Amino acid sequence: MNNYARFPVEFVRGEGARLWDSEGNEYLDFLAGISVCNAGHCHPRVVAAVEAQARALMHVSNLYFNRPMVELAERLTGRSLGGRVYFANSGAEANEAALKLVRKARPRGEIVVLHGGFHGRTYGALSATFQESKQAPFAPLVPGFVAVPRDPAALDAAVHDGTAAVLLEPIQGETGVNVLSPELLAVARAACDRVGAALLFDEVQTGMGRTGTLWAYEATGVVPDAITVAKALGGGLPIGALISGERLADVLAPGDHGSTFAGGPVVAAAAHAALDVLDDPALLARVRELGTRLAESLRELPGVVAVRGRGLMIAADVDRSAPDVVARALHEQRLVINATGPQTLRFLPPLVIEQRHVDDAIGRLAPLVS
Ligand code: PLP
Repeated sequence: MNNYARFPVEFVRGEGARLWDSEGNEYLDFLAGISVCNAGHCHPRVVAAVEAQARALMHVSNLYFNRPMVELAERLTGRSLGGRVYFANSGAEANEAALKLVRKARPRGEIVVLHGGFHGRTYGALSATFQESKQAPFAPLVPGFVAVPRDPAALDAAVHDGTAAVLLEPIQGETGVNVLSPELLAVARAACDRVGAALLFDEVQTGMGRTGTLWAYEATGVVPDAITVAKALGGGLPIGALISGERLADVLAPGDHGSTFAGGPVVAAAAHAALDVLDDPALLARVRELGTRLAESLRELPGVVAVRGRGLMIAADVDRSAPDVVARALHEQRLVINATGPQTLRFLPPLVIEQRHVDDAIGRLAPLVS
């Protein structure tokens, strides 16, 4: 169907931060499939894990256990909030599970979300995504969502005894890499504690090392009650997860929610391999270092008027049409980036890049924004 505005390019091969199209042209990828290929394209560890698991067992359904899934759940909770995991197949689906869980914990409760947030395209996730252009054609939406500006006082005032949860992205990705202030996050935590509501962080885009820590919440000083994860979790394959702390671990009971494919052994094996690559202190330190270099280099380009972000999740506002820059970068410079708004470029490179890749990207971008 006609729901994507695709570029006239067919990619046929990828390796690390490089892509090749069907005509043999080589590209530098600073988008990573929208923060999915954090481990780089076709990382050998991910490919080997998928190959081995595909030979052993591909699917059994959630009527039975499979070892890669159980061990992945243990690994994810051990490396985050310590509770339990619900597996899904995408970011939107992980958020649907989170929404159902908090509604069950506080029946008919309201869910407070922020202006500028993006949580996915399915009905619950879309109802949490307060953007007129995305919501209006699909009304009526799921009731019980309240959207407030990114302002501590407004958020605090919106949370009351009938609030089930506050759902937010610690850094809003799809609307231009808006880093939420420490004050706003602290107010969200305190407001939820005041009324016994759940604080949910959507880490679909910020997770898996993107911001220089495995999860973005680790650098905020605020610990949420649950996080949702997807995108880079599967090393390029589709998997999502809702990871809870102890407080929300036992809300869902058999029959409450489910998915035929979720937590299948092949995607779980791929996720183990992706975590082997990304949950590495040396790699995460390099993400922080290269993020600083990328941001500083962008600031030096004449057409760049503002730079935001953390780690290798960076946006640059430009003094011209960002979609034009993106198209010229692709066709003239063979640099893959995207635009989140009319004047905002976004950079989400694979996290396995080196300094030379950053300098190469800046070199390709410079003639387009000078
Ligand atoms: N949440 C956030 C923060 C996202 O950035 C996205 C996708 O861009 C989603 C949810 C939806 O994820 P998916 O496209 O896998 O459903």
